[in-house]
Amino acid sequence: MKQIYITTVLILIFVQIGFAREKRNAHYITNQAPLVAQPYTALPIGAIHAESFLQEMLKIQRDGLTGQLDSIYEVVCGDNNGWLGGTGDGWERGPYWLDGLVPLAYLLDDDELKAKAQKWIEWSINNQQEDGYFGPRPLPENYEHIPGTQQGMRNDWWPKMVMLKVLQQYYMATGDERVVELMTDYFQYQLKMLPENELGYVTFWANRRGGDNLAVVYWLYNITGDKFLLDLAEIIHKQTFNWTEVYAGDMIRRLNPLPDLHCVNVAQGLKEPVIYYQQHPEEKYLESVKKGLTSLKEVHGFVNGMYGGDERMHGNDPTQGSELCSAVEMMFCFENILPITGDVYYADYLEKIAYNVLPTQSTDDYMRKQYFQQANQIKVSDDERNLFNDREGRNVFGTTTGYPCCLTNMHQGWPKFVQSTWFATADNGLAALVYGPTTVTAKVANGELVTIKEETGYPFKEQILFTVECEKTVKFPFHLRILEWCKTFTLKVNNSVQQVEAQDGIVILDREWNSGDEVELNLAMDFRFSHWYEMSLGIERGPLVYALRIEEEWREVEKEGYDDTFWEVLPKSPWNYAIWEKTVENADFQLEFADEIQPNPWNLENAPITLKTKGRRMPIWTESRNMAGKIPSPSWPYRIVEENEEEITLIPYGCTTLRIAQFPVYRK
Ligand SMILES: [Zn+2]
Repeated sequence: MKQIYITTVLILIFVQIGFAREKRNAHYITNQAPLVAQPYTALPIGAIHAESFLQEMLKIQRDGLTGQLDSIYEVVCGDNNGWLGGTGDGWERGPYWLDGLVPLAYLLDDDELKAKAQKWIEWSINNQQEDGYFGPRPLPENYEHIPGTQQGMRNDWWPKMVMLKVLQQYYMATGDERVVELMTDYFQYQLKMLPENELGYVTFWANRRGGDNLAVVYWLYNITGDKFLLDLAEIIHKQTFNWTEVYAGDMIRRLNPLPDLHCVNVAQGLKEPVIYYQQHPEEKYLESVKKGLTSLKEVHGFVNGMYGGDERMHGNDPTQGSELCSAVEMMFCFENILPITGDVYYADYLEKIAYNVLPTQSTDDYMRKQYFQQANQIKVSDDERNLFNDREGRNVFGTTTGYPCCLTNMHQGWPKFVQSTWFATADNGLAALVYGPTTVTAKVANGELVTIKEETGYPFKEQILFTVECEKTVKFPFHLRILEWCKTFTLKVNNSVQQVEAQDGIVILDREWNSGDEVELNLAMDFRFSHWYEMSLGIERGPLVYALRIEEEWREVEKEGYDDTFWEVLPKSPWNYAIWEKTVENADFQLEFADEIQPNPWNLENAPITLKTKGRRMPIWTESRNMAGKIPSPSWPYRIVEENEEEITLIPYGCTTLRIAQFPVYRK
């Protein structure tokens, strides 16, 4: 009898646990069994509207390269592209551009941009072959070679993975059912062909980036429930590079010789174990990604959240490069992982890249980009440094300078970030998981439509004000993220302080909401100090990293052999400052806030925050090979610094072009 009782209790507990796990959002495309229930679900494109500076970032992209790439980079993104039926470029670059253009067009509800994107989408849909293949077809024997393009590799699986992401977003914006048909036919084609023509049969990129393919297969499964998609998923995972093993192992931790891993692949592969986890929810997949990120930080990491990887992985000297593609692909991984795991660690990390690294790697008008940025960057010039890929134009702000992947891939940065600020929840509420000025309109509870306006100067300011708008009273849970770095926060609903605690970084306000209800969240931003390469000092406060303000001289350069002019940036003020250890101990930094946050806050003139402190120049630390020379390590009893203590100014990393973000520290 006792046994039966215990068994019954156990069964009830398991049913309850199962039930709790099984909660799935009722209104939006979310994981269906047997895929693991996801705590958060992406909203359709159009549900979230960017405001203030975030909206400005989108507008700058519209007026800059994203809106004009078909004319500025006509040789690749013009009408002769293979993805438009032409004989030109037929590989990744057209789809890369669309991967940012499509969400931008629909976030801005801009007809002109939509029309530009539609041409490509129509071509893909209307030219799918009988057997399910889609994309550019092999070229005729006598095709004309066009310099600067990639006309071949048309049967590669990789560029199609990018176009699948494009089509997925297009569906999330429009609901065009032709996308579901195209994908179903194409995935059947993949199921048939992959056993013979494995993912990596044309290029190794497809083998490294299979996670992008896999994510769309699961997404389609959640719409159609076609069981063959789960079989295809197994094949794709099996044929994809074993990232789970690489991140969990010690390969990334090698410094001598440096691991033979491509920097962008390392960023882009981060999502794969978690994507596959949806079908096989084993902890090892989640753990491997965390381990991989820890290895990256400890062995190759910079204070800005990126890692040394200038083509190949390259250690943590803050003068090594980090590629723009790595930044946007890493962001996209976190945007994928966050709703599957609900792990706010990825939201913190996403904000770190978006609010520090991303703004610095393109010009204010979004007309030029930088292939490699340096955490300690004292000069931007067309000179040799110490990069793996050290040919011309790797560090300057240009269009096709460096390598043109970033020129076409960077457009996804801000639009997808905006799209990842809000999510629907498994308990049919709404979640503010990533902060920034936005407005969301989405279905909650039994399908009631609510709008929540998020007014904030975040990431510069601590206060966030949410205002609910709804037609009539509606009960739903509102999830808010509390950041790991935030030691104290206050939360008020209609001015009354709530006694709430965050669980796993989330506070849930489950109550009846009336139109006009206000939620005020204050996230205390304290200083945080960290140590990096040669014990160099990193300074953070809230989501922002701070760096030395260096006056800049921008000069446009015209040079033979380059497709276009590019910009170099030279320092107009000293940079070789060290900070006294007592300054850090006493957190002796004076904060000054600008009266208001400018539409584009990401430059020297508009930096919304300045930090004043003291520093001394360190004569031993000089320029070497066009970079800040090797950072002086702390020395016993002390290193020689200049007599004269000077006031120095730090500003948010994202506002700098030239900078010291990792400082030597001196004792007296
Ligand atoms: Zn790139």
